[in-house]
Amino acid sequence: MPILMRKPSRNSYKKEPLNKGLALRALLIILIPLLMAISPIGQSTDSTSLLTAKNSAQGSITTITMTFKEKPPHKGYFNSGEFAFFNTGTDTYTALVGTDLYAKGGRQLIEVSLGDEVGARRRYYPIDVSGGEFGFESFTVAKKMVTPPSKTKSRIAEERKLVRGLTSKATEKKLWHGAFELPTNNGDVSSAFGTNRVLNGTKRYRHNGLDLRGQTGKTVFASNKGRVVMTKALYISGNTIAIDHGLGLYTMYSHLSKMTVKVGDVVDKGTVIGEIGATGRVTGPHLHWVAKINGATVSPLELIEATRLISG
Ligand SMILES: [Zn+2]
Repeated sequence: MPILMRKPSRNSYKKEPLNKGLALRALLIILIPLLMAISPIGQSTDSTSLLTAKNSAQGSITTITMTFKEKPPHKGYFNSGEFAFFNTGTDTYTALVGTDLYAKGGRQLIEVSLGDEVGARRRYYPIDVSGGEFGFESFTVAKKMVTPPSKTKSRIAEERKLVRGLTSKATEKKLWHGAFELPTNNGDVSSAFGTNRVLNGTKRYRHNGLDLRGQTGKTVFASNKGRVVMTKALYISGNTIAIDHGLGLYTMYSHLSKMTVKVGDVVDKGTVIGEIGATGRVTGPHLHWVAKINGATVSPLELIEATRLISG
């Protein structure tokens, strides 16, 4: 019977020459959507397009603007943390993306998920990360602060984990508005962000915040509107307040002598949250001010600048 004869046996199928044209077409069908999803910055991918984005350096902030028609939430992922978009026009959304102070250099992918979590469309955009340029600073501190006993080491590790857990999620409500502001009255910087810290002669870490000069008891303000998510005495940072400003933006205030807010409080820009002090690992009273976006530690001065530019 002709029908039966046309049905290839296992053996005859193996011997059949490979149809190269067909194989190539199949490969392209798989590859094209993949290549479209990973398109260079500035190129459009169907109804979604990345309007503006720039490459980034360690510890800096990139503003990305996109157009898409999906309904919120629109979230992004970078540096193993989350950020969220806010509406800036018809089908237009903007987000601030942080590149961590210790981010790996070279080409990295920003992941954007459009619409609801379930069945969300995902897009990937490459960004080139370069090394930041930071100076050096030397300090002499108590030996136990440089090489703490193992019990203290595990406490420090636990506290880092806690802070990471609290500051790497993006809450969808945008509480911050306008430009962030310096949290002290004089705004006098005593140590820049990112400087390589040399403790008792050995290079140890990069300064993950901005130090603002001030005497114990001087007022500390919230740099923007947000919700207090932590008020805790930490080993290295001393009394520390963390504020969630929404969309993945957080600020932290360390070495405080007094904390006058509690977890859950919603504070406005300029609300008094505590007083400058010398708690934790310090050589004298000052405010250590930290900014985080999508879990990445970024320059607080850049946060002021980036939000000022967005707000016009
Ligand atoms: Zn500091």
